[in-house]
Amino acid sequence: MSSHNVKIGLEVHVQVTSLKTKLFCSCSSDYRGKPPNTNVCPTCLGLPGSLPVLNAEAVKAGLMVALALKCSISDLLIFSRKHYFYPDLVKNYQISQYDGVGGAAIAKNGFITINFNGGPKVVRIRRINVEEDPGKIIYPTGSLLTSKYTLIDYNRSGIALLEIVTEPDLTSPKEARIFVDTLRSMLEHMGLVNTELEGSLRVDANISLAGGSRVEIKNISSSKDVEKALAYEIIRQSKALEHGESIRRETRHWDDVKKVTVPARIKEVEEDYRYFPDPDLPPIKLSATVIEEVKSKIPELPDQRVERFIRTYGLSEYLANVLVARKVLADYFEECVKTCKEPELIGNIIVNDFKRWVEELDLSMNAAINMLPPTDLCRLIHLLNGNVINIKILKGVIPKVLKSGKNVETVIYEDGYADISDESVLMRIVDEVIQENPKAVSDALVNPKAINYLVGQVMKKSRGRANPDLTNKLLIKKLNEIGRASGSAG
Ligand code: ZN
Ligand code: MN
Repeated sequence: MSSHNVKIGLEVHVQVTSLKTKLFCSCSSDYRGKPPNTNVCPTCLGLPGSLPVLNAEAVKAGLMVALALKCSISDLLIFSRKHYFYPDLVKNYQISQYDGVGGAAIAKNGFITINFNGGPKVVRIRRINVEEDPGKIIYPTGSLLTSKYTLIDYNRSGIALLEIVTEPDLTSPKEARIFVDTLRSMLEHMGLVNTELEGSLRVDANISLAGGSRVEIKNISSSKDVEKALAYEIIRQSKALEHGESIRRETRHWDDVKKVTVPARIKEVEEDYRYFPDPDLPPIKLSATVIEEVKSKIPELPDQRVERFIRTYGLSEYLANVLVARKVLADYFEECVKTCKEPELIGNIIVNDFKRWVEELDLSMNAAINMLPPTDLCRLIHLLNGNVINIKILKGVIPKVLKSGKNVETVIYEDGYADISDESVLMRIVDEVIQENPKAVSDALVNPKAINYLVGQVMKKSRGRANPDLTNKLLIKKLNEIGRASGSAG
């Protein structure tokens, strides 16, 4: 199987999660976790007599992505009806855009430069559409193939989507994965898509091998699965071709549990969709003023950020690229560097330890950052610099924090990693001892000698590792605080 025979094109659907409302009605865009079919109105339920009203912010989001992807923008914004019959589609047509007679995509002919095999590669963007999301089909007792019945939830119906379609410029599953990651980071940096939300980014992948027809794989929900689904298809198709079977043009469904593609339906051809301009949504002229306004609001994009990371923090190209591939990770890095000015060390720890463990433990990046916030990572580095712990211990603490949800001090203390001469670590134990010994605390407040009992408790709790002088100092400080507080209260 030689990779130069493979042609891959992607169709990426992203929800504009930054919007407050749906694309054509005032229902909330925040549909997740709500009881089924409660986040709906006559318009997004497609009831007779209801009329769509365009969300201008969705158009601006489309324009921003179009400009960032170096597309040419259509003069007119035209919405078309794309007809097909499927239970998730309330009106039996989707309001979308049509890059053909009578219609127009909001933008076309752009490109994204990805970094692959150490070099830049240009992937052409064919077009971008603004369109509405269908409802969500739920298979309660299995999958598409096995469920005994199907439920439908229209809470998602009408959510604003951008459909981003590439030319078939990709030549391997890995390259396709990198494309999706690159696009995802761009969308994150524009502040338009929270890609950690389930279903916010869905990919359809078209793949053909020399001598075979084009096969479309539907609804892949992560860049990792894009790579897996395509790799699976290459093996399936090349085996079939080797056996002299023909690959028919079809749509397949990615089963993300079994990690296989299964035949879904014979793909509609364009004529089947019977596109025509939606008479309820007259064409709108996209003014140069609006386009300029959107252009001026494009924030720093990943390319520029990578450059800045190299320039400002002296990071290697590799580290800068890995950090910026996820906006949340790059933000985390910059937040850490604010308090702890060791960018290279922090960058290395985030990429080689933190990120690796987040992936290994299958956590969301945000959840992991909550468990090890910038202040805590800086604290670890502070302990490292103070020779309280060494780098090996530091690297061991990270997975323990991420697995247990305990904070850095607790893990270090419980694991007996160090002589406890660090104030913050020791302070936790002092606080605990004070909490647990109210009687001894009130004794010590009147009789300074009684403090020895508390020192003893700290030593016991730390299994002898607490630095006695520091323990004494911290206890006196704490008791003075308590004395003052009760004094002023009384
Ligand atoms: Zn609605
Ligand atoms: Mn679409």
